[in-house]
Amino acid sequence: MSNSKSRDADFAQVRAAQLDYNARRAAGYREQALKLFPWICGRCAREFERRNLSELTVHHVDHDHDNNPRDGSNWELLCIYCHDEEHSKFENFVRYGSASGTRPEAARYSPFADLKSKMEGGE
Ligand SMILES: [Zn+2]
Ligand SMILES: [Zn+2]
Repeated sequence: MSNSKSRDADFAQVRAAQLDYNARRAAGYREQALKLFPWICGRCAREFERRNLSELTVHHVDHDHDNNPRDGSNWELLCIYCHDEEHSKFENFVRYGSASGTRPEAARYSPFADLKSKMEGGE
């Protein structure tokens, strides 16, 4: 705490480890979710095949990326566009891989509005 230089180094190290962990974890649940569900976006119903599968992403319904039940009850397959839309309401969680992805409207941070609309939407 007293030495800010070493604290920055620690932070960088922790962050690198975190990104690595995120990537591994993402690969794990993504694989499972893709086995479990048909390759269709849950919002716009766009269909995917192996060729464009990288555009289909795994969304966490409760926005908790550590909540990965085996039955897939916390996962929803969304295309990158619908997923982005979903998260623009629930920013600034870690956006691994896209440091350039921050947008001005990300300041509207209202997680519970999203949860509320989800409950009302019956999903
Ligand atoms: Zn979609
Ligand atoms: Zn998501």
